[in-house]
Amino acid sequence: MSWPEVLTPYSDLPEMSSRPPHEQRKLVSQASRRRGDAIWVVPMFWALGVAAVWAGVSFGIVRLKMSIDASKSVLGRVDPPADLIRLLGFAGLLLFVVTCIIARRSMVIRSLRFLINKAGCPYCQFSLVGLTPEKLGGTGSKPVVRCPECGELVSIFDHGIMPDDLLTDHDRRRPFPGAGPAGAYNEKATIYSKKGWAKGRAAAKRK
Ligand SMILES: [Zn+2]
Repeated sequence: MSWPEVLTPYSDLPEMSSRPPHEQRKLVSQASRRRGDAIWVVPMFWALGVAAVWAGVSFGIVRLKMSIDASKSVLGRVDPPADLIRLLGFAGLLLFVVTCIIARRSMVIRSLRFLINKAGCPYCQFSLVGLTPEKLGGTGSKPVVRCPECGELVSIFDHGIMPDDLLTDHDRRRPFPGAGPAGAYNEKATIYSKKGWAKGRAAAKRK
């Protein structure tokens, strides 16, 4: 992951920009929840590590400054440089916060990629969305797709890809069983009016 990418707003990422804002928010919250506690524990450890290194560097800088000052002074003794210590402390705090943010963001971005590109080829990451799984070994064999990019045969279940993950957005919007005129997803009023119409027709036939 490159630096500018870590600093890009989630909504401007190439994978995200084509999606409506409510979907982007949903994906970002899914992406951070997917990591559980790690989403704050891991960045915290990174930040603590960076802060520890910074504390060591700061200690060296203060010691160096004190020994230079001491060599210049007549008495050979100096007070700790309070201003310098405050400045180094402030920089350390800033480093801690920035490390936390960057580590957290890079985790969320990687999670987002995983969520969006569930159907990525396990060999080359090329998106397998839109391909139809085939059972090349006949009935009972595992469904496979051939990656159009690298040509590898991917046994989808073995790589945690569900047939649903391969559907395009267009496929998902297509009506499904139960969505018809008298289907389970209609308003009750619509269904009853259709039933009434059917009864009328049946009565007319009997006559
Ligand atoms: Zn591939």
